[in-house]
Amino acid sequence: MRFQKYFIFIFLLPLIISCSDETEMESNNQMEHSSSLEELIKHTEEFKKEIYSYGNGIHVAVGYGIANSIMVEGIDGNIIIDASDSTYEAEIIHNQFKKINSNPIKAIIYTHNHGDHTFGTSYYYNLYEDKPQVIAHESTDYYMERILGILNPIISKRSTRMFGTALPEEQLINVGIGPYLGVGNSPVGYIKPTITFQDNLKLTIAGIDIELYHAPGETNDQLFVWLPNKKALMPGDNIYRTFPNLYTIRGTTHREVKGWVDSLDQMRSFNPQYLFPSHTRPLQGTAVMETLTIYRDAIQYVHDQTIRLMNKGYYPDQIIEMIQLPKEVASSPFLKEFYGTVRWSVKSIFNGYLGWFSGNISELDPLSRLEEAKRFSTMVGGEQNLFSELEKAIKNQDMQWALQISDRLIALDFQVSKTKKLRATAAQTIAAEATNPNKRNYFLATALELNPNFESTTLLPNTKELLNEISMDMFFDILSVRLNPEKIDSSQYRVCFAFSSGLKRTITLRNKVAEVSSIDSECNLEIESDDQVFKETLAGLRKPIITVASGTINTNGESTAFLRFLGYFTD
Ligand SMILES: [Zn+2]
Repeated sequence: MRFQKYFIFIFLLPLIISCSDETEMESNNQMEHSSSLEELIKHTEEFKKEIYSYGNGIHVAVGYGIANSIMVEGIDGNIIIDASDSTYEAEIIHNQFKKINSNPIKAIIYTHNHGDHTFGTSYYYNLYEDKPQVIAHESTDYYMERILGILNPIISKRSTRMFGTALPEEQLINVGIGPYLGVGNSPVGYIKPTITFQDNLKLTIAGIDIELYHAPGETNDQLFVWLPNKKALMPGDNIYRTFPNLYTIRGTTHREVKGWVDSLDQMRSFNPQYLFPSHTRPLQGTAVMETLTIYRDAIQYVHDQTIRLMNKGYYPDQIIEMIQLPKEVASSPFLKEFYGTVRWSVKSIFNGYLGWFSGNISELDPLSRLEEAKRFSTMVGGEQNLFSELEKAIKNQDMQWALQISDRLIALDFQVSKTKKLRATAAQTIAAEATNPNKRNYFLATALELNPNFESTTLLPNTKELLNEISMDMFFDILSVRLNPEKIDSSQYRVCFAFSSGLKRTITLRNKVAEVSSIDSECNLEIESDDQVFKETLAGLRKPIITVASGTINTNGESTAFLRFLGYFTD
C-alpha cells in the first residue's frame, strides 16, 4: 500500500539534542585543528559508563547513551533530572540508581526538549501507579512537537548523519558529548510535561528544595536546576566539556548566543560548589566557578568579535578566517572543538543578527547552481576537463576542493556515478582527519549515502503511545506542509473533520495551500474518526483503505474521496 509508505512521516528520530581549533588565515577552507585525532579518541574516556557521586545525595549516570541522567535522593522518593535518550537506557540507569536508593521516582525534570534528555521518560512513567510529575519550561512541549512533527524528516536525516547512527561501529569514535546515540534501542518514551513555568519555579518534592530557572542557550526552552541546600547546579546543556554548540549542523532554529552568556552568568550568581552537566562528567569545588567563567568568556568573545567584524562590513566567509579563541581560553579542556566550532558559530551569529544575505551583491541573486556549473566548466575547457580537475584534486589530496568541483559535475549531470565515487573518497578522507565528531560523522555518513546500493533505514519505529503525546494540531500542521501542489488544482475544496474527543478541524484547499481552521460549513467531505485512529492512520500504523472500508473512519460520501484527499499529501 503506497499510502503506508508515504505516510510514515513522523518519528524517525529527532535527536536532538543539540573545540578548539584555532582557525588561521588560509586560502582554502580546511580547518587547522589544534586538537588532534588522538585527543578525540582520548575524549571518549569522558564517557566511561559510570555513576558519579560526591556523597551529597546526588548521583549522575555518565556514558549510558548520549546524555547523562541525574538522580537526587529525597526523603520518601527521588527525582530524576533528564531521563536519558531511550527507555532502554533509562531502565539500565535506574537499575544502577536503585542499588543506591530504591525509593520511588516522584518527579522527572527535563532540562530541555531534546530527545536525549526526554525519550527515557515513559520507562519511569509506566513503573508507578502514582505517576511521577514531569516538569519543564512552558515552551518545551512546543519545541518537542515541532521536531517530532513538521521538521521530523529533515532533522532526523541530518541527525542520523551527525551522530553517525548508520556507520559501522568501528568508524564511530564518539559523538562529542556522549559515546553514541542510544535512541534506536527502544521506542521513543517522551511524556508531556505536567508542571511548567515561565521564568522560574521553586518547589519542594520529597523534601528536596528545588529552584528552576529558565535559561535560554543551547535551546530556547533550556532551564537550569539549583538545589540551594546542596549548593549544586544542573546546567542542562548550557555547559559541557567541549566548545558549545552555538550552532548545530543537524539544523536548528537560531540559538541566541548573548542569552546563553546571560544564562551562564545567572548560574554564576549562585556560586555553585557542584556542577552536574547533562553531558560529560561532573565537577566540584573551585573548578566549578572557574569553568563557568571561562566558558561564558569564550562564548562572549566569539559573539562580540563577530559583531565587531560584521560592523566593519566583512562577510561571514571572511569573518570565519579572522576569529580564533584567545590562547588563555582555547587552552581550557572545556573549549576543545569536539562538538561546536568557532567557525560554524560565527556564521550562525551573523545569520542571527543579519539573516542570510551576506551584504555582498554577487550573492544576492547569484546564478543558479546549474548555470554557475556551466560557466565554470566552460572556463576550464569543458566538462571533461572539469572531471580531470576532480581527479587531480583527489590525487593531490586536495579534498575540500574535490568536493567543490564534484558539486559542479553533479549539477551538470556529467559522469555522475564516477563523480560520486570520487566525492565519497573526498568525504572519507576529510572525515578520517576531522577532529570534530559532528563533521567526521556527517562526512562518513554522506559518503555511505553516495554508494548506489545505500538504503536508508528508519532509526525509530513510531508507537501508539508516542502518537498520544503529540497534539492533533501538529498532525494538521504536518498535513499542511506535505501538500503536493502538483496533485491539486486551484479550486476550493473543503474537508471537515469531527473527532470523538469533540475536536473539530477543517482543511480548506485553495490556491494550492491547505488552510487549517475550525470553520464548520460548506464541507465537500465530512470525516468522523476517533482521534487516535486518525493519528495512527496518518503515521502509517493503519492502512487508510482499511480504516475507511471497515468504517473505522466514516465519510459522508464516497470512501474513495477521502483516499484521494490523502493522496494530495503524498509525493
Ligand atoms: Zn543534550
